[in-house]
Amino acid sequence: MSVIVVGSMAFDAIETPFGKSDKIVGGAATYIAWSASNFTKPIQQISVVGGDFPQEELDTLKARGVQLDGVQIKKDKKSFFWKGRYHMDMNTRDTLETQLNVLGEFEPVVPDNFQDADILMLGNLSPTVQLGVIEQLKKRPKLVVLDTMNFWMETAMEDLEKVIAKVDVLLVNDSEARQLSGQYSLVGAAKEILKMGPKYLIIKKGEHGALLFHKDHVFFAPALPLEEVFDPTGAGDTFAGGFVGYLDSTKDFSFEGMKTAIIVGSAIASFCVEKFGTTRLRELTRQEIDERLQEFIDLVSFDISLVSR
Ligand code: AMP
Repeated sequence: MSVIVVGSMAFDAIETPFGKSDKIVGGAATYIAWSASNFTKPIQQISVVGGDFPQEELDTLKARGVQLDGVQIKKDKKSFFWKGRYHMDMNTRDTLETQLNVLGEFEPVVPDNFQDADILMLGNLSPTVQLGVIEQLKKRPKLVVLDTMNFWMETAMEDLEKVIAKVDVLLVNDSEARQLSGQYSLVGAAKEILKMGPKYLIIKKGEHGALLFHKDHVFFAPALPLEEVFDPTGAGDTFAGGFVGYLDSTKDFSFEGMKTAIIVGSAIASFCVEKFGTTRLRELTRQEIDERLQEFIDLVSFDISLVSR
């Protein structure tokens, strides 16, 4: 029982209407590992960092059950750096700077002890690297999940289409779903995207929740209404981590199983946004997660008597 996580491990600099951070630890795979390790172990991490990446971060992840055999450390190079600024609504952001650094020439190597994973979580990273990992796996994992972003749609669409054709679940946000499909309606976008290969599509809508599409079925998971959102960075990755971590713990990869998993993803993402970077995820307890899941249950459950039945 394990989940392979592929993605960036990085430094981020974030500006929100409420504050600003200097270079802090971030990266898609970092958030996914912090989140998924609440539900399953080991997490088998594939990434690359420079000599500037804090050893302490690697040690803390390892102590949580994250295997780092697939994380290359390029001692004389710099880690990936991303700088973003959020708008007042905290749902939209501008990328101010992307320095690929070690990610630019990353050639992933899948360690032998990672070959038996049930789930492959392809976090945000170049589609060429994502393809490289799929091709190195001797046996196809039971579930392959892909997260991506507009940056790769604009710079590597051809390879991205190849990866999308090989996965079971695709995760994108609403504007990326529109960009990928050329359709404004999200239902229309889902129809087009499901034709590209994936059996399931999750469209994240930030503070407005997430939609799960499969054939003609659709399910909606709300986001918890929060009084304060401090920093949405990594919320999408944290959602993905909760989704795959929970699925690995239940092994129920059906539409019904995924419905629960996107509620778990939404619940854990709601913690991520409460503090800058990974701060909130580091201090999170299982009891807090369960209490928040109860808040989700209370948020959406209601009784109604239908007149015609
Ligand atoms: P999210 O807010 O969930 O979309 O993820 C934010 C994280 O994605 C940040 O920690 C960044 O380091 C990372 N990130 C931003 N742009 C890229 C990119 N082009 N490739 C890989 N990771 C990225």
